[in-house]
Amino acid sequence: MSHHSNSLNSEELARYSRHILLEEIGVDGQEKLKKSRVLVIGAGGLGSPVSMYLAAAGVGTLGIADFDKVELHNLQRQLLHGTNDIDSLKTQSARARLRDINPHVSIVLHESGVTPQNAINLFGQYDLVVDGSDNFSTRYLNNDASYFSKTPLVYGSIFKFEGQVSLFNNSHEAPCYRCLFPEPPPPGSVPNCGEAGVLGALCGIIGSLQALEAIKQILRIGDSLSGSLLVLDTLSMRTRKLKIKKDPQCPLCGQSPAIKEILADSYQDNCDLEEPISESMENNSHPIEIDVSEANRLLQSGEATLIDVREPYENDICKIEKSILIPMNTIPSNLDQVPTSGPVLLCCHHGSRSMQVTQYLRQNGYSNAINVAGGIDAWARNIDTSLQRY
Ligand SMILES: [Zn+2]
Repeated sequence: MSHHSNSLNSEELARYSRHILLEEIGVDGQEKLKKSRVLVIGAGGLGSPVSMYLAAAGVGTLGIADFDKVELHNLQRQLLHGTNDIDSLKTQSARARLRDINPHVSIVLHESGVTPQNAINLFGQYDLVVDGSDNFSTRYLNNDASYFSKTPLVYGSIFKFEGQVSLFNNSHEAPCYRCLFPEPPPPGSVPNCGEAGVLGALCGIIGSLQALEAIKQILRIGDSLSGSLLVLDTLSMRTRKLKIKKDPQCPLCGQSPAIKEILADSYQDNCDLEEPISESMENNSHPIEIDVSEANRLLQSGEATLIDVREPYENDICKIEKSILIPMNTIPSNLDQVPTSGPVLLCCHHGSRSMQVTQYLRQNGYSNAINVAGGIDAWARNIDTSLQRY
């Protein structure tokens, strides 16, 4: 009997015996898994369960694309990484964890993550891509690269207590993510900038469903989620399976598509988009936004007031000295605390909530309101590195 590279040795037969016992998998199915190449985008909340289950299942080649480093606030849900991994690259701790789970899997790291420049070529090296990204720009990029490279995409996302799973672009007739959501939501309308809460166990559920869907797709068993969106609401524990139709008007896969290639400019992060500045502000002597260095200089000079618009628990994690805490939703009832002269600096975690407050104050006559770009996170990186980041 010939032993080609995809046949299983005795150690592997024992390791995968509970898979092999399943009639729908068997030795043939297990060898299919070993032959398969799967790319996981993101080694975070979804990418952790996805990659751990796929590695344990014996997927032969597992790509991990992520450019981030492990931070303390990741550990509440990103089980690929441990406390000792803080500050190291997620790909590195992911590889160590996955190798320990299953040394038979070949782990390929893509430490630049997915970019408009590399996406199509990267996807082309795999049979299947699993999307564990946490923002709309990457999701659209993944969908478009999946479509152009003809590599099916297992989609998953979570918001508050709700999760969604689907399979896109697995055939010419199959709908894509843009058939479901043609355009990203407008900036600021959806928590998309790291300020939204995430329930750790929900990541485990949705990521596991994605891993399961990937395994079904590789083995060609069961009914795939192509053309369906599985929606799980964990507060009510209700699931719904909605039909997704291929949209003839879809900007990507429709009859006369507007998107014909991957252009880098089309995938900018919503959070990075410049906020619209009305014309009445142009003559204002105060800029609407300054960086943390300039904010620090103004504070040191004693002429500026710093208002922190985060929530009290965030203020307990870290705060900038001499800042006044007025949480965002209490600003309207505390306008008497906002000085009408001298620069008033508004600061939050990453700079998007404080920009909303800045615009609100300017509309209410506070031409001295100035947003601190990047928020206290930028402050912790550039001004006071002793601050606890989160
Ligand atoms: Zn489409």
